[in-house]
Amino acid sequence: MHRFAPLLASAALLAAAPAVPQAQPSRTVLVQAGQLLDRPGQAPRGPSTLVIRDGRVVEVLSGHAGAELAKFAGAEIIDLRGRFVLPGLIDSHVHLTSDTGGVAAQLEQVQLSPAAKAYNALVNAQKTLAAGFTTVRNLGDRDGVTLALRDAVRAGKVAGPGIVDAGASISTTAGHMDAALGFRDDLRDALGRDENLCDGADACRRAVRLQVARGVDVIKIATTGGVNSRIGAGLGQQMLDDEVQAIVATAHLYGKKVAVHAHGADGVKVALAAGVDSIEHGTVLDDECLELFRKSGAYYVPTLSTVNGYLERLAADPNAYSPAVRAKVDWRIKVTGESLRKAVPRGVKIAFGTDAGVSKHGRNADEFELMVKYGMTPAQALAAATVNAADLLGLAAEVGTLEPGKRADLIAVDGNPLDDVTVLKRVPFVMKDGVVFKDEPASRGS
Ligand SMILES: [Zn+2]
Repeated sequence: MHRFAPLLASAALLAAAPAVPQAQPSRTVLVQAGQLLDRPGQAPRGPSTLVIRDGRVVEVLSGHAGAELAKFAGAEIIDLRGRFVLPGLIDSHVHLTSDTGGVAAQLEQVQLSPAAKAYNALVNAQKTLAAGFTTVRNLGDRDGVTLALRDAVRAGKVAGPGIVDAGASISTTAGHMDAALGFRDDLRDALGRDENLCDGADACRRAVRLQVARGVDVIKIATTGGVNSRIGAGLGQQMLDDEVQAIVATAHLYGKKVAVHAHGADGVKVALAAGVDSIEHGTVLDDECLELFRKSGAYYVPTLSTVNGYLERLAADPNAYSPAVRAKVDWRIKVTGESLRKAVPRGVKIAFGTDAGVSKHGRNADEFELMVKYGMTPAQALAAATVNAADLLGLAAEVGTLEPGKRADLIAVDGNPLDDVTVLKRVPFVMKDGVVFKDEPASRGS
């Protein structure tokens, strides 16, 4: 067992002192937990001890292994007896390269080089890990920045959450991911990376294959307009049925899941009917949408935190958004949560996702409070951020629970998140792959 050196005490230090994991000989680590939620969705165990070897859980013992400690002579003991231990959290929807928005994001697009974005992505990834999120799914960036970061984390070159990456998001010309939206016509060639735009089924098949060729894990598309699309083209369906069907069939040929940005119900329906794997945002869900979720088994990723991002930016600068975008932002603030309220009692499968990038990186856990506000129990919200998200990401055999064979990705909090999800906003202890990334004393008053 080794620790990152120097041990990072705060997010502020992360950029200055990026921690690099070092290969170490195999050692046994015992994590003593005050309470252990080893399988979210089921009741927590009382006092327990996790036995960890080579970055994986090998055994879960009841109690604090008093008499059995002799069996583990030489093991490192991590004392979390005063804390509540649970699996590392999973955010199914982030954009690590940035967390600016509105007009500022538009400027960034013409000012920042891919290299500058890569440094931002690393800092944001480490803020995310420090917040207790040991796995994320990055749903769209430019220039392959997050793909490179994914590989650097996997290779142990830099510390960060495990990343499932979509490469560039695919949409139609003038759709949500058309980077030239809102810019002068003559900048289109410079800004519009046409390979992620497709019009017609054949072009859409090619757009998917181009992302597959880059080594992406998942395909991200937009079937409707976006709140942050810099034109006033609305939030209804913008991709035709045959285009969506061609994308889904092609992605599934290569074993890639499809995550769909969709606000309007028409764009949700065309996606679910085509067999996509998740709907992101899903701001308007009518009865037909809910029935299609049930039939298809697709996940709903509500991304309620976007509203926090909008409200904070507008509080800092009332002109943070152009008028066309502002109208959509105001609508999204007004209706957020309505769809989740309808989806929960209908048994729709829900995975935790924030759209961090629109909201601030490192504040991912704010989503829990909103999920509970709009109809989920704390236990359901925790399952959404662990077992459900692991299933959606195709990582159910690796993460999401703390059972023998799974990665030793875990966090500890002061307080019981099943009573109060806001304790997840302050995560003092984070371990990823058996390596301690963060270990802070209990905060005063907790
Ligand atoms: Zn997004």
